[in-house]
Amino acid sequence: MYRILIVEDEPDIAFGLEDDLKVEGYQVEIAGDGTTAARRALEDSWDLILLDVMLPQKDGFEVCRTIRRAGLRTPIILLTAKTQEAEKVLGLELGADDYVTKPFSPRELRARIKAVLRRSADHTPAVYRFGDVEVDSTRGQLRRAGRPLETTPLEFQLMAVFVRNRGRVLSREQLLAAAWGQGVNVTDRVVDHHIVNLRRKIEPLPEEPRYLICVRGMGYRFDG
Ligand code: CA
Repeated sequence: MYRILIVEDEPDIAFGLEDDLKVEGYQVEIAGDGTTAARRALEDSWDLILLDVMLPQKDGFEVCRTIRRAGLRTPIILLTAKTQEAEKVLGLELGADDYVTKPFSPRELRARIKAVLRRSADHTPAVYRFGDVEVDSTRGQLRRAGRPLETTPLEFQLMAVFVRNRGRVLSREQLLAAAWGQGVNVTDRVVDHHIVNLRRKIEPLPEEPRYLICVRGMGYRFDG
């Protein structure tokens, strides 16, 4: 389920959006001012942020800047007023993904949300769940039963590659290129070694893996 942070100080619009997006199956939370928005954007994982520009405390542009400066790539759709034509450009330069002009039709906004989600991270939610495991790509963290797992950056990277390519067989060469980077000199056995370690952390029975499956002669497939 995708999680959307709605940043809007006008209660009518905020609650209208909340109802509308919940009906669409999104999980939503409302932040009513810029300071709260920036805090919630950074401390939690979101698949999308709907960000009003005119806000108390910090305006939407400043919130956008704060989020991008913190290194978060969460998709952002700015909600702008008609008179803010020039500011739209500024917003996009600040790292927003799209903007919608107020007053907007709920249908138009829903279409934009879907388009932005489709473009971002090839449809993988910010927190991907399988079994009791969570792969949180915003924080670079694996959790099991709600508790953070100790993983090396490489193990996390491997897991993220598997999640993005779930259901597909990945050769050791593909895994090497995706997780280690091109041109890095490691052997197939190193890949196997890291997968054994990952299995110990995420599999209910590491010796009988059900998520990280070895496909003989081809590589590995993540069934999560
Ligand atoms: Ca406003």
